[in-house]
Amino acid sequence: MPARIYFDNAATTPLDPRVLVAMQPYQEAFWGNPSSLHGEGRQAREAVDTARRQVADLLGATPKEIVFTSGGTEADNLAIQGVLEAIGPSGCHIITSAIEHPAVLACCRLLECRGTAVTLLPVGSSGILDPAELVRALRPETRLVSIMAANNVVGTIQPLAELAAITRGHGALFHTDAVQAVGKLAIDVHAQSIDLLSLSGHKFHGPKGVGALFVRNGVALSPLFPGGGQEGDRRSGTENVAGIVGLGAAAEIARAEMADDAVRLVRIRDHLIDTLLSTNDNAYLIGDRHRRLPGHICVGFDGLEGEAIKLLMELDEAGFAVSSGSACSSHHAGQPSHVLRALGFDVYKARGSLRITLGRFNTREEVDKLLQSLPRAVASLRPIRSLRGGSMAGSVVASQ
Ligand code: PLP
Repeated sequence: MPARIYFDNAATTPLDPRVLVAMQPYQEAFWGNPSSLHGEGRQAREAVDTARRQVADLLGATPKEIVFTSGGTEADNLAIQGVLEAIGPSGCHIITSAIEHPAVLACCRLLECRGTAVTLLPVGSSGILDPAELVRALRPETRLVSIMAANNVVGTIQPLAELAAITRGHGALFHTDAVQAVGKLAIDVHAQSIDLLSLSGHKFHGPKGVGALFVRNGVALSPLFPGGGQEGDRRSGTENVAGIVGLGAAAEIARAEMADDAVRLVRIRDHLIDTLLSTNDNAYLIGDRHRRLPGHICVGFDGLEGEAIKLLMELDEAGFAVSSGSACSSHHAGQPSHVLRALGFDVYKARGSLRITLGRFNTREEVDKLLQSLPRAVASLRPIRSLRGGSMAGSVVASQ
């Protein structure tokens, strides 16, 4: 059986072996509780403090501005609910975008039920938000703007610094879900006027079940749940020490290697896009050609959108792990993607895209193997296309 090749790094990334080495002592030998005053506790506390500094350094933050969480979903909820709870959610207005991750959208919906007004900003067919839309949506009672740094389905990158500066100029707080961007793009929270930022370890070769929220010094934040007061009273619960150590190690590696990784990944990504489009006559790229994450490709196959899951399974059979959208979509298989709908796709087209996401350990040789297998997998679905009555040409993306 040929070795499997993993191209679903937006869903999760393989743990970097160096991260595992850093974590192992905290699973085995150093199991103290960081809140304990004795030697075992102090040892664990030191490890957590080191990781806090490593994460802060990756973002240009100070260690006190980092709150460890159980991952990106909790960080998003803590940011949005925590800020609104501190202000009092009733009568406030928050702004987010139509292509956010469900962790943000569902949280905003919850707040809407509690009396907060919510505006969802549209994005263009390229998947990029026009800052003028934000200017138009701001109201005197706007307290928070939450816009993701990079999209998990199409990989497009938002003009963060510009959006954050507009928000600050208005006197509101700016949160970004940077779960897909951290470890891949350089971020400096203070230079970019970001007040709150969510990240997740497993998206940049760290462990699952651990993440962090950057909270700019001075931003009032209520905890999501009451408890023992860990993390400066912002996130109670005994710390996941080994996970936090792993997150810190992943952050340190990313800080040192991110720029080189990005150059290499952009080169293979562009080779993959160019070759895929030239060898599959019905393929089209989804999202802006250049303003996208270094390893992120999202493509559609004209007329085969309803068969995206079958295409994914054909490729799985051939040894390739790819995705048909975000990892969350496996819970809603066959449903149109809210991200693709927001980009202007009709309901049929929004049901199917192929997401190929490269990570630190992917090579050009692996990409070439996928390029060889893809036309056969696509061709195997073509008879179904004719049954459906042919092409769905003329969509927004066909012109990109
Ligand atoms: N935000 C974005 C943009 C994501 O892609 C994800 C995960 O897919 C999350 C939030 C949730 O992160 P986690 O899996 O750590 O809860």
